[in-house]
Amino acid sequence: MDTGTSIASVVVLATNQSMFASCGRYPYHKSCYRPKCDVCKNIVPSNPLGSLTNPFWKQESCPSHAHDGTPRCTCCFRFQPRGTKGYIDLHDANRKLCPECMDSAIMVTNKCQPLYAEIHQFYEGLHMPVNKRVPLLLVENEQLYAMVSNKSLDIKGVCVRYMESTINIVTKQHTTPEKRTRPFKLTLDNGIVSGILILFGLPRILTGFMIAHEMMHAWMNLSGYEPMSEEVEEGISQVMGHMWLECELSSSSSRNGRWSNYERKLGEFCKYQVEVSPCPIYGNGFRKAHQAVQKFGLKKTLQHMRRTGNFPF
Ligand SMILES: [Zn+2]
Ligand SMILES: [Zn+2]
Ligand SMILES: [Zn+2]
Repeated sequence: MDTGTSIASVVVLATNQSMFASCGRYPYHKSCYRPKCDVCKNIVPSNPLGSLTNPFWKQESCPSHAHDGTPRCTCCFRFQPRGTKGYIDLHDANRKLCPECMDSAIMVTNKCQPLYAEIHQFYEGLHMPVNKRVPLLLVENEQLYAMVSNKSLDIKGVCVRYMESTINIVTKQHTTPEKRTRPFKLTLDNGIVSGILILFGLPRILTGFMIAHEMMHAWMNLSGYEPMSEEVEEGISQVMGHMWLECELSSSSSRNGRWSNYERKLGEFCKYQVEVSPCPIYGNGFRKAHQAVQKFGLKKTLQHMRRTGNFPF
């Protein structure tokens, strides 16, 4: 499978900036140039830390907006420009969405079942079918974190194993948390995986990425893989999420027309974040897994992982 843009080229794009910036027609020597803030429209104050830049969206802002209460979208990380409206408070662990992310956000469990069915097909196409009885459920932040041991990571999904428990799932689009959930009993129907939980309120393309990632954990568990290091297990799961994004966003995809321009951009942002993540587990894990899959193919990489618990080099 064509995996497109290599990690190296993305990293270069993100770091190899020229010494000159241009403003209108005139080039400025970088050290003299100060950008205009996209949030408050003032010139970003001279600051030893420079401006708060978001290299993907090219948003420049004053460092102060990170802690002056300026709303920030929890999916694309863009700040709300002053004088604009429409950032939505999800009333869930302070999560907010910009209008563009809100446009395609999946808010309730039954709305993400068609996407789940498509990702089942994606795995079947790779000859890696996953038991269809594994329920896919949308939950609030607190419920999600109750199911994971490493609470310091930024978690948006989890594959629940060896657990029978009653959890609260999001079934109604409602602004107050009490009214939008109902209890759901997780059972060990297939003996190993009880369910896949995803954070509610993520844009459709990010929900799909998360499902593709968590489904890899489910597939490895149901296929009898021995427990592996976090770096290996998360790394290969990131590769599957990334691969699903590439398939969906590639110009040859039959489903190409179903994603809006913004969703495609957000999908590219998600890929970019996966590729450049500094996290030793998710970032390094992805880069090692991606390199192995590029070199040996997915099938051989998985065979090697099953035998040794590590990536082939
Ligand atoms: Zn500002
Ligand atoms: Zn957003
Ligand atoms: Zn994972």
